[in-house]
Amino acid sequence: MKVLYVTSECVPFAKTGGLADVSGALPPALAARGVEVRVVMPLYSGFDWGELERLDGTLVVPMGWGGRAYCGVRMGRLPGSEVRVYFLEHHAFFDRPYLYGPPGEAYGDNLARFAFLSRGALALAKALGWTPDVVHANDWQTALVPVYANTVEHGGPLAGAATLFTIHNLAYQGVFGGDALPVTGLGWEHYRGEELEHFGALNLMKGACVHATLLSTVSPTYAREIQTPAFGNGLDGVLAGRSHDLAGILNGIDTREWDPQRDPHIAAPFSADDLTGKAVCKGALQEEAGLPVRDEVPVIGLVGRLTSQKGVDVLAHALDRLLDLDLQFVLLGTGDREAEHFFGTLAARRSDRFAAWLHFDNGRAHRIEAGSDFFLMPSRYEPCGLNQLYSLRYATLPIVRATGGLADTVANFDEATGDGTGFRFGDLTPEALYDTVGWAVSTWYHRRGDIEQMRRRAMAQDFSWDHAAGEYEALYHRAVARRRG
Ligand code: ADP
Repeated sequence: MKVLYVTSECVPFAKTGGLADVSGALPPALAARGVEVRVVMPLYSGFDWGELERLDGTLVVPMGWGGRAYCGVRMGRLPGSEVRVYFLEHHAFFDRPYLYGPPGEAYGDNLARFAFLSRGALALAKALGWTPDVVHANDWQTALVPVYANTVEHGGPLAGAATLFTIHNLAYQGVFGGDALPVTGLGWEHYRGEELEHFGALNLMKGACVHATLLSTVSPTYAREIQTPAFGNGLDGVLAGRSHDLAGILNGIDTREWDPQRDPHIAAPFSADDLTGKAVCKGALQEEAGLPVRDEVPVIGLVGRLTSQKGVDVLAHALDRLLDLDLQFVLLGTGDREAEHFFGTLAARRSDRFAAWLHFDNGRAHRIEAGSDFFLMPSRYEPCGLNQLYSLRYATLPIVRATGGLADTVANFDEATGDGTGFRFGDLTPEALYDTVGWAVSTWYHRRGDIEQMRRRAMAQDFSWDHAAGEYEALYHRAVARRRG
């Protein structure tokens, strides 16, 4: 099985979001299973690419109607693996301070930049004489890959390759004015409601959803949700039309970086067999947060972007009342200015119970995961979510809105049997949030044995990339079988 993995970002080379983590972790996990996978991405400025091997020759990438772009190609490997990463070196497109544009903005030529990446990835495979069985594209930036495979590649060496398109974030679809279509090099016959046209605009993700051999997203529940108007961002009809071709595969986590037995950021190591280190971490966290060091009080943590996706507006309506319960709350996040202002002000006013850090700090994120008793994620939508997975691994029971990957990974506490790994609520309202946190806190005070059992159960879950890679491999085989007939 040969897979060309096309991505606009990849850890450790370039990252703005979860796609980069997946791109850095999935290919090595696939390689460990015997899949021959090669990654293609842009050569951005800002990292030390002097070490990369410069391949001979110049890659010629067809652009627009009859145009061409030329680029160099450099090659490196994903750390700790033999997986090759090819970097398309086009300085005018990628030698910029940001990947997609300054915060809140997009570069005016993003369509050309990522059409170049998509077409360039296919041109590269041909130039290398390496014919993949599957081309795996991700998010809007590479959404033209499946479209090109079905159109401009017709009759060429890549025409037999299956395509898999993975949606990591449906909120960004690559929408451009219809008059920009010529930039893609595709003919006007593709600018129609059944392909690239969507509500009078050019929509790259729609093109991928129509053209890819198979589709996937990053959790089974999110795969179902995005087929409904509430979660579909306007593409629910298209996705529902491909219901049987749309899989949901949970992301794995980096189990080396997030390992409570070997985490250099935390005060003491711990494991499912011996949780005494976790109590040390809790005391250290309370101290770091300037909260009273009390072992008996439950600490609730929250780390994440303070945006409407994460439901922090709903939390804002419940938090003051929650702080009247005997609990402590620590929050680490950045995001919307109003949210930062709200939590900052409340932390000053309720400093005996609530601490808020409004910046980005990976070490502190680890210490919150390790030192908290519960971890709150009241997400409005959550394609997969990583923090609840880290929490489970750190015996920090998640309190979640049951949506997307949160619904797939957190099992609700069952008072009758003691089963479960966390606490879930369905309605995204301040009342439901308040009640569910209250339920967790009351369980903490009155049923500590159940909490201890849930902690051990949580720590025993397997969210390794190897598991996810196995599912992707099966999907690749399905895609190949479909493509070949
Ligand atoms: P999303 O990708 O939607 O932001 P996830 O839960 O999937 O949400 O992943 C968020 C990641 O970013 C986690 O690794 C989390 O710890 C980290 N993170 C978010 N905000 C911060 C912050 N302020 N400081 C440190 N880490 C953060």
